[in-house]
Amino acid sequence: MKSIAILGSTGSIGTQALDVISKSGDFKVVSLAAGRNIELLEKQARQFRPKVVAVFDAIAAQKLKAALKDTDIKVSSGESGVVEAAGIGADIVLTAIVGVAGLKPTVAAIDAGSDIALANKETMVTAGRIINRMCAEKNVRILPVDSEHSAIFQSLQGVPSGSLKRILLTASGGPFYGKSRDELKNVRAADALKHPNWSMGSKITIDSATLMNKGLEVIEAVHLFGVKPDDIEVLIHRQSILHSAVELSDGAVIGQMGTPDMKIPIQYAFTYPERGISFEKLSLADIGTLTFSKPDTKTFRCLPLCIEAIKKGGLYPAAINGANEQAVSLFLKGKIGFLQIAELNEEAMLNAKSKDDYTIEDILYADSAAREFVMSRV
Ligand code: NDP
Repeated sequence: MKSIAILGSTGSIGTQALDVISKSGDFKVVSLAAGRNIELLEKQARQFRPKVVAVFDAIAAQKLKAALKDTDIKVSSGESGVVEAAGIGADIVLTAIVGVAGLKPTVAAIDAGSDIALANKETMVTAGRIINRMCAEKNVRILPVDSEHSAIFQSLQGVPSGSLKRILLTASGGPFYGKSRDELKNVRAADALKHPNWSMGSKITIDSATLMNKGLEVIEAVHLFGVKPDDIEVLIHRQSILHSAVELSDGAVIGQMGTPDMKIPIQYAFTYPERGISFEKLSLADIGTLTFSKPDTKTFRCLPLCIEAIKKGGLYPAAINGANEQAVSLFLKGKIGFLQIAELNEEAMLNAKSKDDYTIEDILYADSAAREFVMSRV
């Protein structure tokens, strides 16, 4: 039985992961961590009986401690508590905290020698180079959970190293596919939160609407699969059935298809290299047609901006990621318009200071500088 730590257990990925675990019966949950949703954390703690539960919010942690006093479960709090839950030494740590807040816990999990089931793409976006180096030193594997990267990873099984030529990264196009800049001027958070195919947390749903999510995924793919940004082609694929594909040196294209259900990539990260139990089956006859087209990068500026950030390298990906987290939070509160997200990201990149040799602390500094810059512009 593999031991698993679930970071971000109360979120969209975290709850689906616990669903996978309860259906499969092959895993023991050793720690849980979340931000502040202690009602759900208490239920999860009572069901899965981990050794440690961490709550980022200190007041919420105190309340959970009181609620769980009839159990032997340790409740930790703050960033150090989340880092403790991450570094517990589980066989696998699922990193499903949203945003750059997932970076330090992921570093702690790698330090402890745990394999990483990586949902928190912001970790690879901001610190991919450092994370890859750490994983090599600690002999730790990164098992992608993001459906596109899981599809690429699955398509590469059995492919000799050096045969990967290009990645075909698919994107649904989000709720605003086909819309002009004029039509997007006045859209609100409620419109942007209506994703056509996937049910996800609010931050990634907005990122899907701006195509920032695809930009972050390009950066993630560069680090996970060692390709150049120009060797990744983003394709709008409205049906979300082909989750991504690889083009090999002989021109063969291998992809992975399935229903848009995150439980499939989550489970594969947990069971790799074995396959797990079956979820909803795909009927291609019912779907009928799969379509592919180029993204509209003039309207959806976040995608080319991310490609520019990874080409420039250094701390630019951390800067655009931090700016975007701040801008999305402002958009969700109704304080800025939809098109301002890309504008602020672009300005924050222009304002960012970078260097070639950087540490995790430098990344976190670049992140907060970008957030402060965005706040100073609104
Ligand atoms: P959600 O917003 O649904 O969940 C976020 C989770 O992170 C919650 O459990 C939240 O706790 C927790 N959290 C937030 N801040 C902290 C913190 N400082 N310390 C500890 N825990 C914290 O997000 P998603 O599940 O949608 O996404 C999670 C990650 O997975 C993101 O990086 C996203 O890009 C990636 N991902 C998500 C996909 C999806 O389908 N949802 C698909 C592919 C990747 P609380 O609820 O208590 O606030």
